[in-house]
Amino acid sequence: MSKEVIFEKIKEYQRIMLFRHIRIDGDCVGATKGFQEVLRTSFPEKEILIIDDEKSDYLAFLGPDDAPVPDEMYKDALGIVIDTATKDRISNPKYVLCKEIAKIDHHIEVPGKDGHFYADHSWVEEERSSACEMIAAFCASFPDELKINQRAATFIYTGMVTDSGRFQYPGVSGDTMRYAGMLLDVGVDTEWLYANLYLKDFESLKFKAYVYEHMIISESGVASVYLSRETQQSFGLTFEEASSAISYLDGIKGCLCWLAFIETGDAQNSIRVRLRSRFVHINTLAEQYRGGGHACASGATVYGEEEIRELTAKADEMVRKYKETHEVWL
Ligand code: AMP
Repeated sequence: MSKEVIFEKIKEYQRIMLFRHIRIDGDCVGATKGFQEVLRTSFPEKEILIIDDEKSDYLAFLGPDDAPVPDEMYKDALGIVIDTATKDRISNPKYVLCKEIAKIDHHIEVPGKDGHFYADHSWVEEERSSACEMIAAFCASFPDELKINQRAATFIYTGMVTDSGRFQYPGVSGDTMRYAGMLLDVGVDTEWLYANLYLKDFESLKFKAYVYEHMIISESGVASVYLSRETQQSFGLTFEEASSAISYLDGIKGCLCWLAFIETGDAQNSIRVRLRSRFVHINTLAEQYRGGGHACASGATVYGEEEIRELTAKADEMVRKYKETHEVWL
């Protein structure tokens, strides 16, 4: 399936509802809000909605979504799910009520737990650095009909920046930079954007210090940190803030993989795992622990200390093998 088919569907429907994944991030929020703005501007007669009750303090500066609507309104809508590989990760479960469902995504394509793919029409490009890059590419494919204004450009650029680690991850290509350039030409206020994304409250730096003091580096070079509910509470952190600890483990020489284990505090005592790597591909490891994602950035869920030890040992083994068989790594 291609973006042409999805564009035909967009033209066909009067109401379009955009969906994203749970544990929202800059990419899925930027992509849905950016696409909403593009579609609203380009087709003012259509109704374009984002209904999602997940909130993020970190992304609050991008503004709120739409108010909930009656279930009836989903039934004649086209649903477009963006940046979400499997149906169990779609944030608003009412997406199933939509008449037809399209998918735009850059994750490695895997069927859901039930073995099925969720969309009627899919456009998936796994090599793209972000879903926002795909939205930019989508708009660029239909320049006579799709209009990107400054607001849309800012949303889309936000996801491109956050999902590519400020344009440094391996997925970044010439296309990424061309589309980023296209958006900057429209007029993104990058100083405002970066201030919102990257300035830290001084208090949060104490948590960063805690992470460096308590992280462990395995024999072959896996950096990991465990954040109990107690630790999260002692720093007054939201779950989202605690989860951001993964970014502190980035950039340690010799550590080709880094892991953050964050206790969710749910009834099952599940532990969120955030996996990141360079050179080594860790998505297959995430898939062994109820997760998935990208080659060098994945998520998973584990239960109990034994699974934490097991996952970390497997990561260590992957890094060991990689170092043994490759000469160029840092
Ligand atoms: P996270 O550490 O949660 O930010 O996840 C890193 C990447 O993996 C993101 O692109 C997520 O959308 C993706 N991801 C996280 N958890 C899963 C999962 N259970 N299945 C598939 N993809 C996931």
